[in-house]
Parts: sequence; C-alpha cells; structure tokens
Amino acid sequence: MSDIQKLADGVRTGNIRSLAKAITLIESRNPDHSGDAASLLDQLLPDSGDSIRIGISGVPGVGKSTFIEALGMNLLQQGYKVAILAVDPSSQLSGGSILGDKTRMENLAREANAFIRPSPAGSNLGGVARKTRETMLLCEAAGYNIIIVETVGVGQSEIAVAAMVDFFLLLQLANAGDELQGIKKGVMEIADAILINKAEGENRPRAELARQQYENALHLLRPKNDHWQVPALLCSALHHQGIDEVWNLILDFVATMKKEHQFTSKRQLQATDWMWTMVMDNLKDLFLQDKNVAAMIDQVQTGVSNGTTPPSVAAKRLLEAFKRN
Ligand code: GDP
Repeated sequence: MSDIQKLADGVRTGNIRSLAKAITLIESRNPDHSGDAASLLDQLLPDSGDSIRIGISGVPGVGKSTFIEALGMNLLQQGYKVAILAVDPSSQLSGGSILGDKTRMENLAREANAFIRPSPAGSNLGGVARKTRETMLLCEAAGYNIIIVETVGVGQSEIAVAAMVDFFLLLQLANAGDELQGIKKGVMEIADAILINKAEGENRPRAELARQQYENALHLLRPKNDHWQVPALLCSALHHQGIDEVWNLILDFVATMKKEHQFTSKRQLQATDWMWTMVMDNLKDLFLQDKNVAAMIDQVQTGVSNGTTPPSVAAKRLLEAFKRN
C-alpha cells in the first residue's frame, strides 16, 4: 500500500493525526507535493459530501467566534462532528491567523468531536480559498458532518466562502443609523439569512427595529431563490439565546432545498464553477509566465497607457504572442 493510500485510510477512520497530515499536504506550496495532494483528494472525494456546509461572515467584533462556539457546542451535544475552517487572506498581513484561532473558541477546542483549523497562510484569496475548500472535503471524509467556514466581512472573501457552502449566514450588529450596512455592500445578495447579534438587554429594542428594517429591505430585493425568503433573526451569542432558532432555520433550508432538488444541483454547480476558476487562474499564470508575452508586455502596456495603441489591439497582440508557443 502506498503512503498516500495509508494516509487516505487514516483520514477515513477519523484519525486526527492523519487528517492534520493530509491538510498539511494539501496546504503545501512545494510543487513536488502537488501530485500526492491530487492523488489523496482523488481517493477521498467519494467519501466526502455527507455534511451540511455553513458559511458565516461579519465584521471583526460582531461575535462570530462566540456564535460558532455556542452553535458548535449545541451540535456536539446532538451527536454531530463539527469542523471549523477559516478563509482569511489577510492573516499574512496581521502576522498570524485572526480567524479559527483556537484561543477564540476555548470550549470547542477541548472537544474531541470538534476540529478547528485556522486559515492557511497565503496572501492571495484564490489560494487560501482553494485550500480551505479542499480541507473541507478532507474533513468530510474524516466523518465531520457539519462544516463551518468562517470569514471576515470583506466582500471578496465572503463571495469565495458563499461559493463553497450550502448555507450562508451574515452576522450583523444593530448600529444606530447604520442598519442597512450589508445592503450597500451587496453582501445581502449572497446571504441565506441575516442574524443580528448582541440582541439582549437594553440593546434588544434597537435590534428588533434593525431586524424589521432588514426584513423590509430583503423583501424588496429580488429573491435569489424562488423557494427561500431570506429571513432576519435576532440572537445573543454570549447569552446563548436564539441559537436553536438559527439551527432549526438551517435544517429547514436544507430540507427545502432537498425537496426542490436544489441541494445537490447547487453543489454540482459550485464544483464546476470551481473547476473553471482553477482553469482560468492557471491559464492566467501560464500567460504571465510565457516568455513571448513577457518580452513584449511592458512595451504594449506603455502603448495602451499613453494612448498610442488601442486596448483591443494590444490584447490581440499579446494573445497572439502567447499562442505562438
Ligand atoms: P468576532 O471577531 O466576530 O469573532 O467576535 P467575537 O466572538 O470575538 O466577539 C467580540 C466581542 O463581542 C467579545 O468581547 C464577545 O464577548 C462579545 N460578544 C459576542 N457575542 C455577544 C453577544 O451576543 N452579546 C454581547 N453583549 N457581547 C457579545
């Protein structure tokens, strides 16, 4: 049996050390490892998929890790195995991962059936998201049946997470005069539910007002799915209020999508979109590394920027130089 087969078997049995080793292999930047990583994924893909994939986003401080810890502990009590992954391309800049950090979810981190993995290193969102997506598949093969992918509230990373999950939850705060922050950013279009956190005590009426404003706004948006009206809910992650309601909502969403035959088809679409993203990313790299292109790119670009070459003509020239190879 090859080492990769052994590693795949270890992951399938739910062995944590094998899973950690498999993720390290997937995350490796060493080109010599890419063949083994691909072979491992090939072997484990048939064992993946049996899960609910949940994306969670919101600005730093909104209460993501508090919420995930509360939800995660509930799910463990119900017998689920929970994996928490993060997409955070800024982790390089901040000198370490700010998401998925074990110290942020102390109770979950102590649980045998919870697996927390910080964002992989990397300055480029595409690379970080790819690794997180593949790590998600490995976790599923290892028996984790709830996957939570967390990200910070900055547009591009939310879109990357929404493209890899079944259900996308947006956490918000009821900030005076700033209730509809999410609408402006376009994030509401990708959310399957809006959750207003810290809705306790004297904050509760303000949170309820914000909830109503969100619901009104959501009714005005064109629904992204004919079978799902995006709701706005209240919760207090710190006081464990509203957590069960969110979970019931997710179950309701999953049941509705399955009934409408959209659960699997969405995943199929995500997988093919992913393939094309990878093809396009690789083509771009090949293009930029091409020696014919490299030899003329500066000159062509200067021509475009000073107005002597039309952009369309410049693009054609570069593509022809690329095709000459
Ligand atoms: P994250 O940056 O989005 O992960 O936010 P955290 O979960 O780290 O929470 C940021 C701060 O808000 C912490 O001090 C939490 O204790 C606090 N917090 C989180 N949820 C609630 C809540 O429901 N109510 C209140 N009052 N504070 C909360």
